[in-house]
Amino acid sequence: MLAQAFGKLRILSGLEGSRKEVSYYIHKQGCHTTSKFLTICRKLCSNYIQHQCWKCGSEIQNSSLFCSLCSTLQKPDESMTYFDILHIKQGFEVEDEDLTTKYRQLQNVLHPDRFSVKNAEERKISEQYSALVNKAYSTLHQPLARGLYILHLHGINLHEDTRETDPQFLAEIMETNEELAEAQHPHDVRRLENANKSVMDKLTKDVAKAFRAGDIDAAKQVLLKMKYYSSIAARIKDLKQKAGIE
Ligand SMILES: [Zn+2]
Repeated sequence: MLAQAFGKLRILSGLEGSRKEVSYYIHKQGCHTTSKFLTICRKLCSNYIQHQCWKCGSEIQNSSLFCSLCSTLQKPDESMTYFDILHIKQGFEVEDEDLTTKYRQLQNVLHPDRFSVKNAEERKISEQYSALVNKAYSTLHQPLARGLYILHLHGINLHEDTRETDPQFLAEIMETNEELAEAQHPHDVRRLENANKSVMDKLTKDVAKAFRAGDIDAAKQVLLKMKYYSSIAARIKDLKQKAGIE
């Protein structure tokens, strides 16, 4: 698979005939796993691929939504991450306001009303693009989902590693769940909700710190904990709804 990807990378990147150069670059980027290799391939290729408008064939700049010649909406590029789609810098720490502004701008540009007079194919692309923008926004807007997505870009899918969870931590979670099951009064539920929120806020800061330091393993451990507290938050929300607690 690696050999195949390597061959493809050389052709796509236009670095044919300089295998040494590509190898050196990949080595320097710290490529230890296949998924990391593929991430680097995507990054390299996106710098070199010459995109063409699907309708008129003219050259398209990487980040352009529309063809400058025929004004047709372009298909979303498969190599784009959610960060690329929303035009924000990749990283755990994102500015909420910036993210929301970019999201609204894009949804405005992709609004179905703007495509009502266009042909069926372009209308379909606008719907796909809009769905992708929604998915990117909902993922990057939530700290837990954003962290899990960054791990995914590093080739790590967290649910596979639950066995590594510290038993003492699991005991604490179980205890909180029991407290929740026994909560009789609205103020008990609210107290548990506030306590859970404080823990989530603290863990969000911890995970930001880990990503900032480039410590993916530490980020993974914190995100694993966040997954448990997020389940508790969902239980509390459900309980409040059923009991009619404001
Ligand atoms: Zn065009």
